[in-house]
Amino acid sequence: MADSNNDEILLSVQHLKKAYGDHEVLKDISFDVPRGKVFVLLGPSGSGKSTLIRCLNGLETIQGGTISFKGKPIDGSEKTWRKLRTEIGMVFQSYDLFPNLTVAQNILLGPTKVQKRPKAEVEQQMDKLLADVQLSEYKNAYPRELSGGQKQRIAIVRALTMNPELMLFDEVTASLDPEMVREVLELMLGLAEHHMTMIVVTHEMEFARRVADTVLFLENGVILERQSGHGFFANPETDRAKAFLESMA
Ligand code: ADP
Ligand code: MG
Repeated sequence: MADSNNDEILLSVQHLKKAYGDHEVLKDISFDVPRGKVFVLLGPSGSGKSTLIRCLNGLETIQGGTISFKGKPIDGSEKTWRKLRTEIGMVFQSYDLFPNLTVAQNILLGPTKVQKRPKAEVEQQMDKLLADVQLSEYKNAYPRELSGGQKQRIAIVRALTMNPELMLFDEVTASLDPEMVREVLELMLGLAEHHMTMIVVTHEMEFARRVADTVLFLENGVILERQSGHGFFANPETDRAKAFLESMA
């Protein structure tokens, strides 16, 4: 990649506002995510993390501010978001695989039907990704035959097969049994090592400490603290962030 791209801002959020009726859930959120960086969103329950992630995938209408992707403000139309959702992948807490489709059918659907890429090419990519996560043998299995951790890894593989430039993760390990949390986190650590740009909401503090280039600490819909990952965990600046970290320890 050319040097001039090293500081490219992939996603820019400026003065974002989101309200449900009179309830302002995101108040004036601004941040820039450079390509290749991992941002971790932390904050107490109800602080607005999921809402923010949903706004970044066009799943919520916003009441103010702008979201720009690759330097272009997003106009907010469903048509634009439909296109962008192939470039901005999202995985959330509940496994959202189609239960009536096999693993392979789940993975192939978006790339072949939405992106209209040749099936043989997508299959090759899928086979490689499945091998990487050691799930090749489940290609023809149905979601009900998989463990929670396997389903989440398939959901991540499915998103990756679209070749996204940004990945959004909202508490993807929150419903997993402890022994399955690690296999999912390791997959995400691998993505970070390969410079996937990611925005991650997680309750796994050790993982967050390892993976975060930047931490945004939210409370009541505002960014109360922003720091390097290292700085945040070593030395949180606000009492609220300190109390939060203590509560998670
Ligand atoms: P977090 O993910 O940090 O726990 P959320 O983004 O889920 O926080 O929620 C932030 C606030 O927005 C909470 O007060 C929540 O009750 C409210 N909220 C979230 N979704 C909706 C909705 N669909 N309608 C009304 N209020 C909502
Ligand atoms: Mg949430």
